[in-house]
Parts: sequence; C-alpha cells; structure tokens
Amino acid sequence: MNSILYIVVPCYKEQEVLPETARRLKDKMNCLIESGKISPESRVLFVNDGSTDQTWPIIRKLHKEDSLFSGVDLSRNRGHQNALLAGLMTAKERADMVISMDADLQDDIGAVDEMIDKFYAGCDIVYGVRSSREQDTFFKKFTAESFYRAMSFLGADTVFNHADYRLMSKRTLEGLAQFKEVNLFLRGIVPMIGYQTGVVEYERGERFAGESKYPLKKMLAFAAEGITSLSTKPLQCITALGFLIFAISILMLIHFIVQWFAGNTVAGWASVICSVWAIGSLILLSLGVIGEYIGKIYLETKDRPRFIIREILDDKNSEGRV
Ligand code: UDP
Ligand code: MG
Repeated sequence: MNSILYIVVPCYKEQEVLPETARRLKDKMNCLIESGKISPESRVLFVNDGSTDQTWPIIRKLHKEDSLFSGVDLSRNRGHQNALLAGLMTAKERADMVISMDADLQDDIGAVDEMIDKFYAGCDIVYGVRSSREQDTFFKKFTAESFYRAMSFLGADTVFNHADYRLMSKRTLEGLAQFKEVNLFLRGIVPMIGYQTGVVEYERGERFAGESKYPLKKMLAFAAEGITSLSTKPLQCITALGFLIFAISILMLIHFIVQWFAGNTVAGWASVICSVWAIGSLILLSLGVIGEYIGKIYLETKDRPRFIIREILDDKNSEGRV
C-alpha cells in the first residue's frame, strides 16, 4: 500500500490558476502521504505546453521550493492531448500509478482517494466520470453529449461523460506507449488497452480563474479528430450512399424507359441539371472524406515525434521536500 503516485497536469497559459492549483494539490498529496496511502516519492508533474506567459517560471519556482512539484517543458505548444501524453510518458518511468487532470481543477480532486482505493483493489484504469453537467452552459452540455452519442454511433468506444481525468497503472502506460499514432485521441485509445477498469463519479466544478483554452473551434477540431482517428464508419457511409444512389438511378431509368415507350419524351432540363449538381456534390463530399483519411495516412507514415521535451525538473535541482 505504498505505491508511487504521479499527478500529471498539462498547463497552457495557466498563470492565473497555477499557484492555487499547486497549493490544493500539495495539501492533497501531503494528506495521502501522511496517511500512508502513497509513497513519499510521489510527485505532481506539471507539463508546460509551450505557454507564452509566466507558466514555466511559476513551475520552476514551485519546483525549487518543494521537490513535490516537478515539471516538463515542451519545446512549443502541441495541444492538450500531446502535452498530456508527454507527461504520462515521463511519469511512466517513475511512478506505479498516474492520475491525469486539468490545471483549472474543474475535476474534483476529492475523487483521487477513491481512484487510489480502486487501484489497490486491482483496477488498472479508473475513469473519472461526471455525475452531472449542471455547471455547464446548455450549449456546452448539448454539444458535449451529442459528441459522445455521435462517437458511439460511429463505432468508437469511449466512456460516456469521461474527459481526461483518470488513473492509469504503470503497465497500462506501457501499453499506451505502444500506440504509435500521431493523431492522438487518448479517450478513444485508453479503452483499447484493456485490463481491469473501474469508474469513480464526481461533480465537475467551474474554472476558478482564467479562461477556457478550448474555444468552440478547438472543440470541433477535437471532435473531428476523435471520429476520424478512431472510426472508419464515414468511409462505410459513403459506400452505403453510393448503393442508395445507384438504386435510385435504376428506378429513374425504369421510369424513363416507360415514359419513352409511352411517347412522353420531353427533354427534362431541370432534372438533368438537378442530378448533375446532386451527383457532383456527392462526389466532392466523398472525395473530401476520403481525403481526410489519406491525410491521416500521410501524417502517420511520417512517424514524426509527438512532442519534444526541452527540460525536465526532477529532484536534482531542488531544495528538497518541505
Ligand atoms: N491545455 C494544454 N494545451 C492547449 C490547450 C489546453 O495543455 O493547447 C490544457 C489546459 O491548460 C488545461 C487543460 O488542457 O489544463 C484543459 O483546458 P481547459 O480547462 O481550458 O478546457 P475546458 O475545461 O474548458 O474544456
Ligand atoms: Mg477546464
């Protein structure tokens, strides 16, 4: 009952929230260490995702004052998923279990205890699942829930109402490291790893300072990323659409032949133009979807690194635990 816990927190321009987040996490970690639930070698690992504000200097200062805080500085902004992966892969070498959470502490850190209990009870992955979305605006709630429904309709296996607040054991992280994909959608990949899983419910609060780093545009891009990296259903839909249109065209052909025998062969300009437009647009649409996938294949074949670490702060250059 004395495993090493790392809490991984990706941070992008989080100077307003970091000092408070660090304080709350420190209290939590100290409680857990004192009660003997986790090892004193446990750490909070902040990943600076190429922020242009004071985020990294703040992390440096926190680390200098207390080696409970360690840090990873990415060479540039790579987005939440890649920053999180960088943190997870760094923590994998040092920890027995890793919990990932956002810097704004919207995810209730009270759920950490229960996650750790489930880990000791034999779970390798524990998902934090929101019990309600009352705090969210109607718009965010509607878009987020539609997203989960669309994902499951499209055949992508994700956990309903689970964001990236989860506990993962060392061996699950080793499993995750074997997924080499560049188009990263962790929520979809983690369930593919397997092992025993558990769920902890929590209330999601509001961001206590600063503003969301996920505006609508990023959210839509994230949803598209999720669907195209996990599912090939859109490609199957094109085939289905092709069959449907083929069936309709056969019916039309029969209709025209009958009309021809009946002597009603009036040149139908409108129907010709309509079908030219309809079929043209469908072809374009299909090409677009296929192009999306080819784009992904192109990126995957390049096998680019998903993140590059500039610097890691661990115990060497700190004044020790206080
Ligand atoms: N984040 C990041 N890189 C980015 C955007 C966001 O590391 O390019 C981090 C951010 O610092 C936070 C987490 O991802 O810890 C979630 O972002 P946010 O809370 O703004 O999203 P929301 O809760 O509004 O969906
Ligand atoms: Mg947030």
